[in-house]
Amino acid sequence: MNKVDLLSLEPGELEQVIVSMGEPKFRAKQLFSWMHKGVSPEEMRNLPVTLRTRIAENYRTNPVRIMEERISKLDGTRKFLYALDDGNLIEGVLMHYHYGNTLCISTQVGCKMGCRFCASTLEGCVRNLTAGEMLGQILCANRKLAETDGGHVGNVVLMGSGEPFDNYENVVRFLRLLHHPDGICIGMRSVSLSTCGLVPQMIAFAEENLPVTLSLSLHAPSDEIRRSLMPVARRYTMDEVLDACRNYVEKTGRRVIFEYALIHGINSLPEHARMLAGRLRKLQCHVNLIPLNDVPERGLKGVSEWEIDVFRSALEEAGISVTRRREMGDDIEGACGQLRRHYLKQDGDRMLTGEEQ
Ligand code: SAH
Repeated sequence: MNKVDLLSLEPGELEQVIVSMGEPKFRAKQLFSWMHKGVSPEEMRNLPVTLRTRIAENYRTNPVRIMEERISKLDGTRKFLYALDDGNLIEGVLMHYHYGNTLCISTQVGCKMGCRFCASTLEGCVRNLTAGEMLGQILCANRKLAETDGGHVGNVVLMGSGEPFDNYENVVRFLRLLHHPDGICIGMRSVSLSTCGLVPQMIAFAEENLPVTLSLSLHAPSDEIRRSLMPVARRYTMDEVLDACRNYVEKTGRRVIFEYALIHGINSLPEHARMLAGRLRKLQCHVNLIPLNDVPERGLKGVSEWEIDVFRSALEEAGISVTRRREMGDDIEGACGQLRRHYLKQDGDRMLTGEEQ
């Protein structure tokens, strides 16, 4: 039933497919560049009509389509609900910053990491996304942008549903395709990858020569608190995670960003800030404080503005570079996993009748 996904293929692999179809090699380069512009086979003007038809009938050039779009009245942030070929749903957020459009993409359907505060993981991980399904999210967003306000996605953050390093091979393939000069061509400096801290993959990734900004979901100043929030902390200690971060800084020359969601009664006191500063001393890094999106299912609550300020000042006084993440798209269920869950709970059947992209 499912057609072969050509968007996941590297140029050499695409060439093999084209040659196996009895076509000359140069068609592969043309096809690669058209696909990564997000056009359908019918629109690939310099390919012969017969080849376009064969591609449309037998292959997929974008395995993702937008099923629903919500636009925030507060800040123009857009939330997309995407449908995949097998009926699975994923989501993404497009944010407009002064430096351009940033798209937050998913790397898995659901997630199996089990972080207590995260909605994406509540139903577990259904499956990994292919590289083409990650690229497809960007192509869909680019198309929406072209149809409406113009412009295109300039920055990509791997911070949607899923743990990128739990889908390592496909994520690396995706990043190589993403910065290919004949493709979407986004530089690695415009990409952020967020991980809950899978140490072996962090070490391997530092050798890939893909110098993205690494964001590490730390969320705690000690092993004890981290273990109470994130099952992964039982596998790797904070020392191991921070050593892997140090290694990343040394290998890539890029500072690491630590994400820290402030959770009432758990990790948000000034003494926690001081403990955190102690752990991060001498590491080339930046801390991003995230106001928690409440997850009522898990009984976790965020903190007040005042408490965020106190925590932030305590870190600053200890010499740690810190910012507070802006909340965007609050009125459109902008946070991780919220929209998909809303659909799975209330309106699952609509995934079969969604609008064609
Ligand atoms: N699996 C990756 C990336 C996905 S989540 C990771 O763990 O980093 C992207 C970020 O959102 C992570 O820092 C995650 O910890 C955070 N996050 C998840 N649920 C949240 C919530 N309810 N409130 C605030 N941040 C949350």
